[in-house]
Amino acid sequence: DVTATKGNEFEDYFLKRELLMGIYEKGFERPSPIQEESIPIALTGSDILARAKNGTGKTAAFCIPALEKIDQDNNVIQVVILVPTRELALQTSQVCKELGKNLKIQVMVTTGGTSLKDDIMRLYQPVHLLVGTPGRILDLAKKGVCILKDCSMLVMDEADKLLSPEFQPSVEQLIRFLPGNRQVLMFSATFPVTVKDFKDRYLQKPYVINLMDELTLKGITQFYAFVEERQKVHCLNTLFSKLQINQSIIFCNSVNRVELLAKKITELGYSCFYIHAKMLQDHRNRVFHDFRNGACRNLVCTGMYRCFSSWVMMYIFAIKGFEGMCEYAVDYIVMIPMLDADLFTRGIDIQAVNVVINFDFPKNSETYLHRVGRSGRFGHLGLAVNLITYEDRFNLYRIEQELGTEIKQIPPHIDQAIY
Ligand code: ADP
Ligand code: MG
Repeated sequence: DVTATKGNEFEDYFLKRELLMGIYEKGFERPSPIQEESIPIALTGSDILARAKNGTGKTAAFCIPALEKIDQDNNVIQVVILVPTRELALQTSQVCKELGKNLKIQVMVTTGGTSLKDDIMRLYQPVHLLVGTPGRILDLAKKGVCILKDCSMLVMDEADKLLSPEFQPSVEQLIRFLPGNRQVLMFSATFPVTVKDFKDRYLQKPYVINLMDELTLKGITQFYAFVEERQKVHCLNTLFSKLQINQSIIFCNSVNRVELLAKKITELGYSCFYIHAKMLQDHRNRVFHDFRNGACRNLVCTGMYRCFSSWVMMYIFAIKGFEGMCEYAVDYIVMIPMLDADLFTRGIDIQAVNVVINFDFPKNSETYLHRVGRSGRFGHLGLAVNLITYEDRFNLYRIEQELGTEIKQIPPHIDQAIY
């Protein structure tokens, strides 16, 4: 969104003339918001932890300072850009080459699944900027062919993925090959616990940039209905018949209950998809994608902690105890299918969803917000209905207080204009 910028120009950053030419030749006229935030800070040498949506220009936000800082007369690796996939490595190196086409900077790509020998041969030639996946770069560093002692900048793009169990051990080992005074730039669509933990251990007073919309309950009318456990399905049926549902998401607190409820809803004659953690990731993504495309009116879902690496769960367990851990599990699972599909980063923000039903009420306010809240940008109206059993009463009042919001008793008639 160009209107959101501060009105800076690429000239304002006093970049090398050749680099500025490359930027304009690539067709970039003005910096995007994330570039406006990151480029000047990165040029000061400060560590950065930045979060912005996909397609907002993060690549150039780190490639421009990287290219600016490289001394092309010094034939050593000065910048490493870590990415989680080969495609992204190729794409990123392409951006570096294009932006730096008037500079004499040597860019090398190295990823798993290609000839190690070729990479070793290539490293006999000068390399200033290395783009690649963690495992392969670590291999080359361990063999002593990839010298990182002069690498003064480490970029981690899609840092949340780089800190998943698949990559994190390699990333941490790799960091030990870098000098102590290196600058670290992390870009991520989300700041999960893994990212926060990594930041605390490896970044020095990082400048945190967060251009994501926060979740809000603004515009969402929230109701509760006191029910007994065995009345819940009946109550849901009533809601279905009375509400004008465009699309709805219905949350349960366990995998079994998701499956059972989905079956019940189908028996009641309503179309319904479901997602839970025992389904394969791929399958979840597909269901979610279809739901988002309107293939079905209702989605039942929940979560489980299997998606977390066990040490993350232990960490949460240590801090929040068992209850807390389960809450996180339920909370995150809902987000994980979306993260992987790169659809959303927080909360469920499908525009067509106008009704969210907590068939099972969550136990903490964070979970509640993730389920019911929306990013402010869309300014959407919506309806949230919470089925509250006797045991949920206390949580209802607490969550209401913690979020500073009002959840009212459901009236017999709900004006359609409010959702
Ligand atoms: P992200 O990594 O945030 O998902 P990318 O870096 O892939 O986003 O950029 C998305 C698209 O925006 C690319 O096609 C890129 O060339 C373009 N882009 C980036 N910065 C600018 C800019 N300042 N002006 C115009 N287009 C830009
Ligand atoms: Mg990107």
